[in-house]
Amino acid sequence: MKVSAEIQRVAQDVRDLVAWMQEEGVDTWKMLAPVPIEPLQVPAQAETKTDIRPSGPLSLEQVRAEMGDCQRCPLALGRTNLVFGVGNPNADLMFVGEGPGADEDLQGEPFVGKAGQLLTKMIGAMGLSRDQVYIANIVKCRPPNNRNPAPDEITTCRPFLDLQIAAIAPKVICALGKFSAQTLLNTQTRISDLRGQFHDWNGLKVLPTFHPAYLLRNPSEKKRVWEDLQLIMAELGLALPGKK
Ligand code: SF4
Repeated sequence: MKVSAEIQRVAQDVRDLVAWMQEEGVDTWKMLAPVPIEPLQVPAQAETKTDIRPSGPLSLEQVRAEMGDCQRCPLALGRTNLVFGVGNPNADLMFVGEGPGADEDLQGEPFVGKAGQLLTKMIGAMGLSRDQVYIANIVKCRPPNNRNPAPDEITTCRPFLDLQIAAIAPKVICALGKFSAQTLLNTQTRISDLRGQFHDWNGLKVLPTFHPAYLLRNPSEKKRVWEDLQLIMAELGLALPGKK
């Protein structure tokens, strides 16, 4: 009750005050109108940069330095050399195989054995040299007894291939063999169904074809590989045989 009486007294005071102000010609509505509030002027802050990553992709040298004496998967235990990759760091065309074999493991360079010699001939038939393309593998260390790389080995090593691809930014990747094609394209589709056409991988054109080692065992398939290589040549604007 006491509070109610106090409120009534204050209300009466306000009414008296308003009446007095109106008698004096004061525009009370204007006074009671909300005062416009100027938007708070926040001074522009200097752009802060906390991301210390390089703005572009790593160079091949940086990727190799990042790998170091890689021990990230069990394949490190049996290798002689880590086989990083070879060729033109600005190549339009990149070949990706499965993994190093015995010769590659010894020499530290991909595709230098019999299958590699056939690949060199295939590249030559396209009017190119090994120096003009880039050659790498899905895994960089030789699987024991040339077995297929295990899924966890691929998962561990794959980021380095992705960094290589980002560094080179080729126009076309030729995936050599089932393993490379299925890994790159993340599919279980057979190589015989994948080959003969381009596939998209992160905006890059990937053309799978048979592995040169398979061609050594099945020379009759060379014709189909040549068809695939000519698709790449057309894509890259290379002169096709018999055409100028
Ligand atoms: S295969 Fe790749 S991840 Fe495994 S040890 Fe060799 S470089 Fe490292």
